[in-house]
Amino acid sequence: MDKHQVAEVLDEVGTLLELRGENPFKCRAYHAAARLLDGLAGELQPMLESGELARLKGIGEALTLKITELVKTGRLAYYEELRAQFPPGLFDMLGIPGLGPKRVKVIYEKLGIATIGELEYACRENRLVTLDGFGARSQQKVLEGIERIRRNRGRFLFSFAEAESIELHRLIRAHPDVLRSAVAGSVRRRKETTKDIDIVVSAERASGIMEAFTKLPLVETVTGHGETKSSAVLRSGIAADLRVVRDAEFPYALHHLTGSKEHNVAMRARAQRLGLKMNEYGLFRGEELVPCKDEEGLFAALGLDFIPPELREDLGEITGAEARKLPRLVERKDLRGVLHVHSRWSDGIGEIEELARAARKLGYEYLGLTDHSQSAGYANGLSVDRVQAQWREIEAVNARLLTEGLGMVILKGIESDILRDGSLDYPDEVLEGFDLIVGSVHSLFGMPEAEMTARIVKALANPYLTILGHPTGRLLLGRDGYSVDLLRVIDAAAEHGKAIELNANPQRLDLDWRFVRQARERGAKIAIDPDAHTPDGLADVDFGVGTARKGWLEAGDVVNSLNKAEFLAWIAARKTKR
Ligand SMILES: [Zn+2]
Ligand SMILES: [Zn+2]
Repeated sequence: MDKHQVAEVLDEVGTLLELRGENPFKCRAYHAAARLLDGLAGELQPMLESGELARLKGIGEALTLKITELVKTGRLAYYEELRAQFPPGLFDMLGIPGLGPKRVKVIYEKLGIATIGELEYACRENRLVTLDGFGARSQQKVLEGIERIRRNRGRFLFSFAEAESIELHRLIRAHPDVLRSAVAGSVRRRKETTKDIDIVVSAERASGIMEAFTKLPLVETVTGHGETKSSAVLRSGIAADLRVVRDAEFPYALHHLTGSKEHNVAMRARAQRLGLKMNEYGLFRGEELVPCKDEEGLFAALGLDFIPPELREDLGEITGAEARKLPRLVERKDLRGVLHVHSRWSDGIGEIEELARAARKLGYEYLGLTDHSQSAGYANGLSVDRVQAQWREIEAVNARLLTEGLGMVILKGIESDILRDGSLDYPDEVLEGFDLIVGSVHSLFGMPEAEMTARIVKALANPYLTILGHPTGRLLLGRDGYSVDLLRVIDAAAEHGKAIELNANPQRLDLDWRFVRQARERGAKIAIDPDAHTPDGLADVDFGVGTARKGWLEAGDVVNSLNKAEFLAWIAARKTKR
């Protein structure tokens, strides 16, 4: 190791000691030694041999030994031991501007947060506001810092990419030369994460549109400026491509740029079997273009029903479209109820009545209020006494809503922790009183797969459980889900007539769409839930609907597409099985 590498390790040792809350003098000694080595004129090896290094002010005997070990072996046992005491995610957290070791220590110790993804989630749930030495402003700063780190990594959540593409599309579409236009790419296919935005436009003349695009205030750097294609990085950090084609080419270009690559390959192969040639400029018989007005026309020319963009992953959609057997995909307006909502009783920030009125405005007929259960101390979970007090409030609000004829009823629910052994978080006589129990794993994520699967399967067999919440605990771009055999979980849900949640929080989208489809095929129902912590959070359901569509779901596969009477009957049927 050279002096710079040694300096880096010593600096990290200082940071690790800070994380451990060691004497500040000791911590500073390592940071100072690191700076000193970095600025050293000569090389380390000869200075070690001559004893010169040990005589330098601020080095001393103990540090000389450590430096020798590093120079000779390239490793330092002391450093490795220290590092092993902390989850690796803490080091990523240290990269967030404004988060030094002291604050990371507080976040880790008080909230049990060990990755950037968890930290982002906690910020969105307002957990930092009440934390010692933090507040609303520092929470916002942390969120901004996390976004900056994400940008540098080049992958973005769907929710972010979608918002950016809607805004960019709105600005481009306003140009007078634009005839037709659309957002394409993985955003159109509603992939859970994405790396860039694609917009396709048709026009007689491209140059004016290209010019305007590259000059948009939200464009930061133009990375390509051509006649038919321009590329840029937006101020928000995401890259965007704009394609301008002649209007006759629009359907083919839109299809091609929507992808996926796998879907396009399979479509071209199909065209070939029909004696046609297909590319981004058209569908050709010999030299002659097969004219298609729009994408529907393009699919029809290949003997296919229209394939919704969400399904274009080459996972059987072409055969399905040929057999006219594609599902009629669920839409937001099919949903009649909204389940898994937190109020200020636990870690949400809305009043119960406020949430119910907001849900009614969105067109829902019932709201499943599910604050956290008693074990969730970090989230102000409800003791048995507070559960009963909350029931009284729900009854009072329901009575008011009824006299007003608002057509909204609040269900008494809970998000019960699934404990280590798979049991729920209250005695049976309390569980009995809930209309709705979402059971979720919030602890011991590191369990081996077999144990975790058994834990969840046992919860699904519990007659009081209604819905399995966020079944893998993943945080997109932040934390992998725990290891669990999802197919066994899906089968257990189907067997016991329980629903599996598709948690619509854009950071979760958990159950993953690939398994959503498995759930449908194996006969388990899905609940599309916002896991809302604010009245605005109810709108997250839209993200869940996108993922449900990507998982081939129809309205009939989704429990909260039942109307109020049907849903209450579904709940009652589960109750009589006890
Ligand atoms: Zn949860
Ligand atoms: Zn929740």
